[in-house]
Amino acid sequence: MSPRSTHRARQVAAVHLLEVTATAVVLVAVGQAIGGHLEGFVLSPGWYWAMGIGGVVAAMAAGVAMGMSGRHARAEEAALHPRVLDVFYRRSLSAPPAPDEGGRVVTLAGDNAERVSEYRQVFYPDMIAALATPVLACLGILIGLDWLTGLVLLAMCPLIPALITGFLKLFRKRSAQSRQERARLSAAYLDAISNLVLIRMLGAGQRVEDDLRQRGEANRATIMRLLAGNQVVIIIVDGLFSLLFIVMSSGMAMTRWRDGHITATSAITIVLLSVLLLEPLHQVAAFFYIGMGGKASQKALGRWFDEAPQAPASHGSTSSTGEGSGAMTLRDVTVGYGDSEILHGVDLVIAGGSRTAIVGRSGAGKSTLLGVMTGTLPPRSGQVVVDGLDAEIAGPGAIRGASASVNQRTWLFAGTIADNLAVANPHATAEQMWDALRRADVADEVASMPRGLDSDVGEQGCLVSGGQAQRISLARAFLSGRKILLLDEPTSHVDMDSERRIIDAISRIGDDTTVVMVTHRRRLLELARDVYRVTDGTLVPLSADEVAREDTERAERQDRA
Ligand code: ATP
Ligand code: MG
Repeated sequence: MSPRSTHRARQVAAVHLLEVTATAVVLVAVGQAIGGHLEGFVLSPGWYWAMGIGGVVAAMAAGVAMGMSGRHARAEEAALHPRVLDVFYRRSLSAPPAPDEGGRVVTLAGDNAERVSEYRQVFYPDMIAALATPVLACLGILIGLDWLTGLVLLAMCPLIPALITGFLKLFRKRSAQSRQERARLSAAYLDAISNLVLIRMLGAGQRVEDDLRQRGEANRATIMRLLAGNQVVIIIVDGLFSLLFIVMSSGMAMTRWRDGHITATSAITIVLLSVLLLEPLHQVAAFFYIGMGGKASQKALGRWFDEAPQAPASHGSTSSTGEGSGAMTLRDVTVGYGDSEILHGVDLVIAGGSRTAIVGRSGAGKSTLLGVMTGTLPPRSGQVVVDGLDAEIAGPGAIRGASASVNQRTWLFAGTIADNLAVANPHATAEQMWDALRRADVADEVASMPRGLDSDVGEQGCLVSGGQAQRISLARAFLSGRKILLLDEPTSHVDMDSERRIIDAISRIGDDTTVVMVTHRRRLLELARDVYRVTDGTLVPLSADEVAREDTERAERQDRA
């Protein structure tokens, strides 16, 4: 929770407390009026005023609190949306979005953001006020009416938070399940919508429809289970605990009155005030669902923000090895997917500002190795230090922020060229963008487009050629200013002219940037100081002869193909 959002929540809690205080004044005045009637004393007109003013203030405060918390929740939600998207864009700079990432973002920015906002701005302030209310009421009884009753009721107060925490714990798993189910459903919807044409072409409409229906049903079932739990909470709270508190305070008040320790007026006032003790329990019953959903969503958002790549540089404090300046070290790294182990015992030292090439047959694990370097693929064992940051200590977010990558397949999102470049550096000026485009040798083509930087690239870059898209993606990596550039076959899927331009652009990169490239292109291999082959799950350094042969073998294979 940001300081601003905490401040807002506190404001609402303060208004709630004003409402409670005004209600207490009304209850005391009503107690006085009934007591006066029973005991035959004349009520001073001040009590009538107190009753009237207290009632008006309580009603107004309730209205104001409701309006404020609603407004604050909307503002909080609006602030969360760009933050979620910002993390998404920054993540995608080091690696293309994972297949399920779109659905995850939709859920986080939609459902989760809404629930968290409600939780922080509606549930949380309500809860603070509700928990403070019984304590204040007991203190009022203790000081103003009867010390013993006040003390006994005060002693019972800790039961309330204990009970609430207990309920929250009890339903945590069910709530998390419901959240996951919703996330799966929206991912499936998004998938179906974005592949509508393909689904029709393949005649898979019925199957997709059935699948969506099934997921919808699973989602409904988990929500119903959660609501059923909520209902049980309401019954227990209202039926049992309300009764317990009312009986307790009434019993105490009556006994004390009978024994002559307090007046009838005080006894009646105590009974009336004891209604306030039930406030938090009513709140829990009414908002339990928001509270549970909010907590689970808060965790999901927290995880998402933790994974965010951090800004490069100025991170010396988290350095464990102090290598810095774009160096990378992998020590005894093992990595894989599911049950299969792809790489094992990999040792690799890459000096800052150097050029390293990785070769190997298809499926050997070259992209997997780069995944470890970008921080998107956590190793199963071993140490990964990127730009002086130990992945274990600094976290994947920090590692992701150290490098920029250009991948086998370009990742451009629907929007303008400027939008796509701004992902790398939101504060970049047009001049800086043009400079990056020039470095990637695509500036002329962009300049000749009717709208220049504001030209649309279409969905997944369909309005620019594959070679242009790849060079725009290279420009984006340049613009990021990150010290490490990871290129995964940057010249695959592009035409000859684009290939030449990309290779030229890479060869012009200065030695302030560390470059690791998966490639079989001779000119790129020549640029590299070290060349390694990924084979049988390990890395083998290649001699100059082997490198030369590597290239001819590859070229021959391609010619044959
Ligand atoms: P290519 O030259 O075709 O790009 P590569 O050397 O980059 O191949 P990787 O993509 O690293 O190969 O894949 C190495 C192995 O890991 C392959 O057997 C592949 O099937 C497997 N693999 C890759 N990504 C995943 C994944 N997300 N889940 C499961 N297995 C994967
Ligand atoms: Mg690959």
